[in-house]
Amino acid sequence: MKTFCGRANPTTGAMEWLEEAEDYDYHQEIARSRYADMLHDKDRNVKYYQGIRAAVSRVKERGEKAIVLDIGTGTGLLSMMAASSGADFCYAVEVFRPMANAAVKIVEKNGFSDKIKVINKHSTEVTVGPDGDMECRANILVTELFDTELIGEGALPTYEHAHKYLVQEGCEAVPHRATVYVQLVESKRMWAWNKLFPIHVEAEDGEKIIVPPSEMENCPGVPSVCDIQLNQMPSSDFTALSDVVTMFSVDFSKPVQSASTCYRVQLESVKSGKAQIVLSWWDIDMDPSGMINCTMAPYWANPTSALQWRDHWMQCVYFLPKEEPVGQGERVHLTACRDEYSVWYTMQKASEEENEAAAGVESPVCRCHAHLLWNRARFGELNDQERTQQYIQALRTVLNTDSVCLCISDGSLLPVLAHYLGAKQVQYFILFFRCLHFSLFFKANHLEDKIKIIEARPELLKPSHFEDKKISVLVAEPFFSTSLLPWHNLYFWYARTAVSSHLTSNVTVLPQSASLHMMIVEFQDLWRIRSPCGICEGFDVQAMDDMIKDSLNFRESKEAEPHPLWEYPCKSLSDPQEVLTFDFRTTVPQHCLSTEGSVNLLRKGKSHGAVLWMEYHLAADISISTGLMRISNEKGSCDWNRHCKQAVYFFSSVIESETLAAPAAVTYAIHFDTKTGEIAMDFKL
Ligand code: SAH
Repeated sequence: MKTFCGRANPTTGAMEWLEEAEDYDYHQEIARSRYADMLHDKDRNVKYYQGIRAAVSRVKERGEKAIVLDIGTGTGLLSMMAASSGADFCYAVEVFRPMANAAVKIVEKNGFSDKIKVINKHSTEVTVGPDGDMECRANILVTELFDTELIGEGALPTYEHAHKYLVQEGCEAVPHRATVYVQLVESKRMWAWNKLFPIHVEAEDGEKIIVPPSEMENCPGVPSVCDIQLNQMPSSDFTALSDVVTMFSVDFSKPVQSASTCYRVQLESVKSGKAQIVLSWWDIDMDPSGMINCTMAPYWANPTSALQWRDHWMQCVYFLPKEEPVGQGERVHLTACRDEYSVWYTMQKASEEENEAAAGVESPVCRCHAHLLWNRARFGELNDQERTQQYIQALRTVLNTDSVCLCISDGSLLPVLAHYLGAKQVQYFILFFRCLHFSLFFKANHLEDKIKIIEARPELLKPSHFEDKKISVLVAEPFFSTSLLPWHNLYFWYARTAVSSHLTSNVTVLPQSASLHMMIVEFQDLWRIRSPCGICEGFDVQAMDDMIKDSLNFRESKEAEPHPLWEYPCKSLSDPQEVLTFDFRTTVPQHCLSTEGSVNLLRKGKSHGAVLWMEYHLAADISISTGLMRISNEKGSCDWNRHCKQAVYFFSSVIESETLAAPAAVTYAIHFDTKTGEIAMDFKL
């Protein structure tokens, strides 16, 4: 069966109808899935195995048959662990059809078909009884349904249902319990992901300050979790205001309630500072005694055990609705509220206790609109003073009092900068997405008469939109909220082409050009997410590896994927290389842009893949990199732009250059199809 999927092409902006095979989404989902990462998570696997063995023994010691329910079996791994620990029978439930199929294959390959029944259903659809999916209720419940926030993948309703309908009272659960920990911190770097700081602009007629709308000050933001690799956050970037404390725990061996609830703890501030952020992570005890513990604690909270790198479980950053000063030794209450799928936090000072009942129960709703318009990284980018200064400097070189300026970027502050920096003429700006929300921002700065928002696609603009004036300065960051990969922001080039007839013949375009850069890297850990596993804890899971490989090869050319590399350390094995340039001063050419070449490997290491990013050339000497900022030492450690995701192209086979006696090189061919806006690439090692 074929389906047609409509989407706006992120680079060209054109509406496209793609004919997709029915299983297309499956391929995307499998190719980009976290299964490989989970299978590489040795610490998790070993502890699950220990916990499962212990649970089976406890049941056997009671003289009972061990009947296991494994909800979300994935590859079947945990069921196979149970079967080889002596379980009498396992029901392995998996809702995602391609995975359930893979589980059947893997279970068979490992010789467990008589002990494990794979059920391709959501657990809430599973029936129990003589004609049901399960003959009887299970007495061991095994699951791995957790995300970084613990409950975001629906663990609570799944457990609630399972205890009511699928398992016996007093069943053993692996894991037995989960505990959520919190720590109150002050961090300018992280707070910058949630609030817009005032921006100072030195204008000809004095200093101007761009201020956020007042609604933003107390805005609770959106309830979506900010999950990051907290181990990459240097301790100099935050100050702990409290010790690490337990916020709440869930016992999975007893009936679980998923209904909304709140938890409250008292904290004593260990330092004075601004309470802004709650850092949070969890651990799971695989057994009731708590001897088998798997923790997500970051480096400073877990100094004793070796850190296990994993990407499927990270740590959470929660933003308090507003920052509040706390003094050393001051007691405050922290409240965590949750619904079925998400958690949010509020803080109350002792003096505000009476109001505490009202605090926080409602899920946060963004009132300032900024949290709907900008994601965390975008907030960080807009708060990056150094970056803003570069735009200011560049704008100064191109604007004068006669400028008629058009800005094409999403939720951008460039229009405000341009206004303050001289373009006193009426200005016109287009913001394609969610423009109405943005008008609040202009109002807060009393600019609603100065900056006109045009809500139209660029190809539909008419001279009347510009009061019959021609645009003399066209500016962009460029940034578009639909961009996933670095080159998607080339949409600016297409928009620029579409508005050509409205531009003066000597129009200034800022940035004047962009370039695509590439570098070969060795990842410290990120390679695991796309690397085959083979044997996992003694079980052959190659069928899973094959399935991922098939999905990766589903499209003729493999695709690059976006990752914020400041969270994923790597070392450069080659020099960075400029591979393509895009001249925004001219329109998008009819012909495609292609390049071929080779890069020498300068350092020993494993070539896991190529990283690609864009650089924007704003003016003669002012360029902005969305990728590599610098190579910080002779070992090749890289500093990446912290606000952008870079494109990572994983090589299908890794070459290891242990000696550089014979200089090794990687050849590449990169092709930008100007019609489709797509970049295809091929690498040979
Ligand atoms: N148990 C495997 C895989 C864990 S990933 C392992 O530990 O390696 C979680 C899996 O659970 C996913 O494949 C997802 O599709 C599935 N899943 C989540 N909730 C489910 C539910 N309620 N019923 C059935 N499958 C579920």
